[in-house]
Amino acid sequence: MSVTEDGRSDADHLRHTAAHVLAHAVVDLYGDSVKLAIGPAIENGFYYDFLKSPPFVPEDLPAIEARMREIIRSDARMTGKPIARAEAEAHYRKLDQPFKLDILAGIPDGEPLTMYTIGTFTDLCRGGHVERASEVGAFKLLSIAGAYWRGDERNPMLQRIYGTAFATQAELDAYLLQLEEAEKRDHRRLGKELDLFSIEEQAGPGLIFWHPAGGRVRAVIEEFLRGELRRRGYEPVFTPHVVREELYRTSGHLETFSENMFGPLEVDEEHYRVKPMNCPGHILIYQSRPRSYRDLPLRLAEFGTVYRAERSGTLLGLLRVRMVTMDDAHLFVTPDQLEAEFANTVDAALTVLRAFKFDEYKMYVATKPENALGDDPLWERATKAIIAACDRAGLKYEIDEGGGAFYGPKLDIKVRDAIGREWQLSTVQVDFNLPARFKLTYTGPDGTEHQPVMIHRALCGSLERFMGVLIEHYAGAFPAWLAPVQAVVLPIGEDQVPYAERVAASLASAGFRIELDRSNERLQKKIRNQQLRKVPYMLVVGKSEVSEGKVNVRSRSGEQQSMTAEAFAVKLAEEVAAKA
Ligand SMILES: [Zn+2]
Ligand SMILES: [Zn+2]
Repeated sequence: MSVTEDGRSDADHLRHTAAHVLAHAVVDLYGDSVKLAIGPAIENGFYYDFLKSPPFVPEDLPAIEARMREIIRSDARMTGKPIARAEAEAHYRKLDQPFKLDILAGIPDGEPLTMYTIGTFTDLCRGGHVERASEVGAFKLLSIAGAYWRGDERNPMLQRIYGTAFATQAELDAYLLQLEEAEKRDHRRLGKELDLFSIEEQAGPGLIFWHPAGGRVRAVIEEFLRGELRRRGYEPVFTPHVVREELYRTSGHLETFSENMFGPLEVDEEHYRVKPMNCPGHILIYQSRPRSYRDLPLRLAEFGTVYRAERSGTLLGLLRVRMVTMDDAHLFVTPDQLEAEFANTVDAALTVLRAFKFDEYKMYVATKPENALGDDPLWERATKAIIAACDRAGLKYEIDEGGGAFYGPKLDIKVRDAIGREWQLSTVQVDFNLPARFKLTYTGPDGTEHQPVMIHRALCGSLERFMGVLIEHYAGAFPAWLAPVQAVVLPIGEDQVPYAERVAASLASAGFRIELDRSNERLQKKIRNQQLRKVPYMLVVGKSEVSEGKVNVRSRSGEQQSMTAEAFAVKLAEEVAAKA
């Protein structure tokens, strides 16, 4: 199965063409009264946005698919033709297509416009197609969803028809199977069922409330990460969530990132901002005293929650949120230290990812773009340091030539989850820009001032998104070291409750997350309830267990074993230590 990267792969071309075929079929079936918006290729598929009255219903999809199949069978050619702006406007005014006119109005004067025709359907488009309809291969329409025009809730709500397309039927079938599995693992549903987190309407979209069960998992993850960071010479820091706006003028965020920032807050007639990034705060700590080369590398780490005003239409459970807790760190290093720091960071990323049973990685190195900042030798040195770190870790990498940010090269690590989906988690970004903007210096061995290089790095990315990925990766069945409740003691009858209480108390005092099920349900029902909560172990206690001083251990997978509570504690401790 192919997964689209950014840019324009063959898969992108065939999917984007499928979007044209979809619009063609819709116009054929429902006429020109349907308003057309946009139809791009997306990861694993495509969509087209329409405004139709009465709205589409899911029962419409088979007929649209059938018409699409006819268009594909006719093997229409895709042909492009330049068009003058006035002509394009007249065309869409005549057809009464307000969204197309809006798109035209947004294209700067002088930019060439093209109309692409496939079969009898013509659409304003920048291109990026396959040549013939038959190349669309195997496709399927998946769903209809609401989508605001331009993702803005002040605009009309359109209907987005999603589809997917692959070169072969076998690839399509594999993908549909994966989708079915993903549906079962949807973190939004599991989050509710397992009472892990919620998004509260009263508080606002994209803001996450961690409930006790989810809070426990997150606390375990944070403890694990803190331990890794301590071992690797990071220093924990904490920085304010609200600071003077001026700081983001110096950092440049106000200029380049302001549309993602929450608006100004006024205090003492001054403007403050909620932080969109942790970097400026860490820079102020660096700058709070003179630094010598002996202080470097300085590694400042913070689980820093930043706030981003993402458009409400783009928010998605834990995966796309407005509060983003980065497992953030900034490394201030001398150019000589770049290679060792990269090796340390890559090693840390792999240690962390492996602990969560992500065993397949892809590394992407983004190199110097055209309009880069910073001198060539430094770029070359930093890029070589990244590649050397990948080589040293024995990892394969792809080079995205010229794909780096203007301020420094970058390493992205993508992982494959339990059902084969790729997720971008770790990022290591070199930055020559912020040290220059803040005029950071350190005194070198030669007694003169030098500029340090800064590295932004996140191992998990954001903890919200990481938890979302983990819930789906594990299908909500967290391994014992992460599970909110590691074991539940189930007394069969009232008589066994005192013994069960002693077992639960001794395990809890040993530091395990233990519960006692005191409900009056029958044993089968109690077991069923704990299975639904995906608790790793149930410790069933009946008459014979009490008399023998044992517990009957039932694992989540259904295995049973009788042992003493002490022996179970040893087994559980071993699993936790091994992160099994
Ligand atoms: Zn197109
Ligand atoms: Zn940063």
